[in-house]
Amino acid sequence: MATDLPTGPNARVFPSVGPALFEAVRAAGARRILLQVPAGLVRNAHDLAGEIAQAAGARVSVSVRPCFGACDLPSAAEAGPSDLVISLGHAPIPNVRLERTTFFVEMRDPRGDPDRLAGIVADGGLPRRLGLVFSIQHLDLAGVLPAALERRGYTGVIGTGDRRLAYPGQALGCNYTSAESIADRVEAFLFLGTGRFHPLGLAWATDRPVWALDPAQGRLEPPIDRAALVAQRQLLVASVRDARRWGILVSGFAGQDRSATARALEERAKAKGHSATILRFDRLDPRDLEGRDLDAYVSTACPRIALDDRALYGRPLLTPPEFLMALGELPLAPYRFDTYH
Ligand code: SF4
Repeated sequence: MATDLPTGPNARVFPSVGPALFEAVRAAGARRILLQVPAGLVRNAHDLAGEIAQAAGARVSVSVRPCFGACDLPSAAEAGPSDLVISLGHAPIPNVRLERTTFFVEMRDPRGDPDRLAGIVADGGLPRRLGLVFSIQHLDLAGVLPAALERRGYTGVIGTGDRRLAYPGQALGCNYTSAESIADRVEAFLFLGTGRFHPLGLAWATDRPVWALDPAQGRLEPPIDRAALVAQRQLLVASVRDARRWGILVSGFAGQDRSATARALEERAKAKGHSATILRFDRLDPRDLEGRDLDAYVSTACPRIALDDRALYGRPLLTPPEFLMALGELPLAPYRFDTYH
């Protein structure tokens, strides 16, 4: 079933690649389609393109550049003559304006028996009041897992986030406001999905323990050491207190462009007697920052660039709240995650 979210009339959402998508493509009269996939789906991209082309009766090209998220839509050069973009693996970001008609295929994963998962939670001895957060692929569990947990004597609470999130309980790497909205009502969070990307993000954004449960494999991961994670960032901030020459990074991606924030940070740096230069890019390559006469950087683009990819950069790279900590305008504690609203 397709869903219409408040992204505008030129966005539609589908749970998976299948007849509903093909029918919608035919109904839209699309002749030239650009298929955009994240890195994890690149291997299947060409078979999927062939499947869509055959079933929908349209030409399908594949974007070479893997997309990071629904913040990262094809540029005019990438889209070329396409009259429709199909973006796989992401939900739309409701407050990101779309330049062209885009069908989001969320690639929902139906695996994960809620009673089995609740049993794993009970056997793992997790706290009784849990905030539930889901990757988009496993969001169907939001409708059934709380009742299964309740049968085991647990309470599963699902929060509603801000205008950057399409669904209650949704995890987005730059926005965990669905979790933050219920943090004071729960003892811990349980993330349903795979990998460490979202558990790490939740650990930065909230001060509750974050457990992670892979719904398909039934593997339960204990909480990340948040104190160590935060201490690393605080040490980094402390190390740049003497930095005088700052580069302020701004992405041109539709859902990552925080030019106004960058200008505000530039003014604050200058008010403190520092020099600050705004540097613009689409996709950031660490090599592009080499050889510059700058002491440190602050990234107003995707917050996870500074947090997760720090080791790739030769100079310190901070988030905007960390930059304000370095300027002495925010305290080092409590640590503030760079939530992108
Ligand atoms: S800004 Fe970063 S975390 Fe947020 S949707 Fe884009 S790629 Fe994901």
